Amino acid sequence: MEEACGVRFARLHQVHGDDVVAVDAPGPEPTSDDIPTGDALVTGSRGVGLMVRVADCVPVLLADPRAGLVGAVHAGRPGLTLDVTTRTVEQLRARGAADLVAWVGPRVCGRCYEVPAAMRAEVTALVPAAYATTSWGTPALDIGAGVRSQLEKAGVEVVDVGGCTREEPALHSYRRDGARAGRLAGLVWIS
Ligand SMILES: [Zn+2]
Repeated sequence: MEEACGVRFARLHQVHGDDVVAVDAPGPEPTSDDIPTGDALVTGSRGVGLMVRVADCVPVLLADPRAGLVGAVHAGRPGLTLDVTTRTVEQLRARGAADLVAWVGPRVCGRCYEVPAAMRAEVTALVPAAYATTSWGTPALDIGAGVRSQLEKAGVEVVDVGGCTREEPALHSYRRDGARAGRLAGLVWIS
């Protein structure tokens, strides 16, 4: 699904980094591999759609309708520690965004995302809100809560769409389905 409502979606070769890519023209044809590398997109161009793809990572869609600016972020565990979400908010503010709203989409929840204790310690030293324990009592991370805390700290209004990709069969999950997992797309555009 790379074209809808007459909008062709810009997309990225996602690498779990913190590069924010500004796009001002429609994305390439769906069959093209000629796409930029990064983990967040921003635009102020009407009719230019933004797409991020996730399967357990956190999709974040940002908009300031009055300023005519939108952004889309792919934030997994590395993106959380690199704070790619705040980098994207900063880019939108630099372009004139004032009242940003963020929709935080479905991702693997804190009860499901088991990690080694050392990893939890490392991540929560940077993002305390991500501290979690699995439903079976082992160390975990709540990357959604972590991203929400970064948005709130950046002064962005948060709408948490919720949903756990691992628990809900209708959602794609890498943790549950491995390499054959599909991807969930987060889409945003200025109509
Ligand atoms: Zn869950």
